[in-house]
Amino acid sequence: MFKILRKGKQDGSRLGLLPTAGGIIETPVFMPIATKGAVKNLTPEELKTLGAGLILGNTYHLWLRPGMEIIKKAGQLHKFMNWFGPILTDSGGFQAFSLGPRMAKKGNLKTAEAKISDEGVKFKDPFDGKEYFLTPERSIQIQLDLGSDIIMVLDHCPPGMAMRKDVEGAVKRTTEWAKRCKEYFNKKVNSKSKIRSQTKKPLLFGIVQGGIHKDLREQSAKELLDIGFDGYAIGGVAVGEPRQTFWQVLEWVLPLLPEDKPRYLMGLGKPEEIVGAVKAGIDMFDCVIPTREARHGRIYKFKKRNPKLKGNFYETLQITNGKFAKDFQPIEKGCDCYTCQNYSRAYLYHLFRTSEPLALRLASIHNLRFYIRLTEELKK
Ligand SMILES: [Zn+2]
Repeated sequence: MFKILRKGKQDGSRLGLLPTAGGIIETPVFMPIATKGAVKNLTPEELKTLGAGLILGNTYHLWLRPGMEIIKKAGQLHKFMNWFGPILTDSGGFQAFSLGPRMAKKGNLKTAEAKISDEGVKFKDPFDGKEYFLTPERSIQIQLDLGSDIIMVLDHCPPGMAMRKDVEGAVKRTTEWAKRCKEYFNKKVNSKSKIRSQTKKPLLFGIVQGGIHKDLREQSAKELLDIGFDGYAIGGVAVGEPRQTFWQVLEWVLPLLPEDKPRYLMGLGKPEEIVGAVKAGIDMFDCVIPTREARHGRIYKFKKRNPKLKGNFYETLQITNGKFAKDFQPIEKGCDCYTCQNYSRAYLYHLFRTSEPLALRLASIHNLRFYIRLTEELKK
C-alpha cells in the first residue's frame, strides 16, 4: 500500500513510500529511462550511486529486440540487465502507434503505418518489416514476462492536437482496454496456479487520457476509478499540444484521483515543470531530458547551493562552447556526482570536442544526478 508520510502545508505536495516487488520507492521519484534495457551510457551500479529509485523500461523496444524468449531465458529483465531495484514498464502502445512511421521517415527503412482497432494495434518493425499485434492482453503478458514491478495498461494516446471526436474515441478505447488489462492481469497474477505473495505482486497502473478537453479528462478518470488500479498515470501530455495546457489538465484530473494512490505524470518534464507538478500533487516522473540533453553537451546546474526551487533556480551550460576551454572549475560547485568530484568543465569541453565517448558518460552522470537531486530538494 502506498503510504503518505507527509503532505505539504501550502500546496498539494506529498512525501510517500511505495512498496513494490522490486523494493520500496520513495516519492516524489524521477525515473531514468532504460529504453532498451539500459540507461544510455550508464551501468546499473552508477544508477544506484546516483540515487535512482526506479527505472523505466520500454516494452515495445524489448519485445522487438531481444524479444521475450531471450529475456525469459535470461531470468527476466532485472537479471538480464543487472538492475535489482524497481522497474516500471510502459505498455508499448505509444511507440507502436508512432514509432514506425517516424523511424521510416528518418532513415531508409520500411514504412510502417500502425493500424489501430478496438482489438489492438497492428504495426510493423520499421527495421525488418515483421508484423506485430499488440493487444491489451499481450501488453500485460509481455510486462509480466519482463518481470516488471509496475505495469502500465495499454492506452490509446492520440496526438496532442487531435480532433475532439478522435480524442472521444481514444478515451472510450482507453477505458475498454483498461478493463481488459485489469481482467487479464487479475487472471494471471491472482490465479491459483500462480499464487504469489502480496509483496511479490506487480502493481497495475491506469492511464487517464482525454487530451485538452475537461469533460473527456473527467470522464476518463472516472471510468478508470470505477475499474480500480494500484496507481494512476496522466498520459497524453507533452505529445504536441501547447505546453502550458498540462497545468490545466493537472487541475482537472488531480482532484478526481484518490489521495491514497500514487500519481504518475508521463513523459515530463523540465525542472520547473517537475517542481510545479509535485506541488500540484504528482508523485512520479519520467523524462528523456537529462540523458538526451547530456548527449548534446547541455548540462543542467543549480544556481545556488541550497536552491529554493523558485524562479530561475537552475541554468544550463552548453559545454561545447569555446568559453569553457580553459574553465577548470567543476560543472557545479557543491554537486556530489562523480563528474563534478573529479573533472573540470575544460575536460568535458575537450572530451566533447574530440568526440570521446567518455563525454557522454560524464555528462549523463551529472544531468541525471541533477534531476535526482531536484527530487531530493523537493522532498526536503
Ligand atoms: Zn555533478
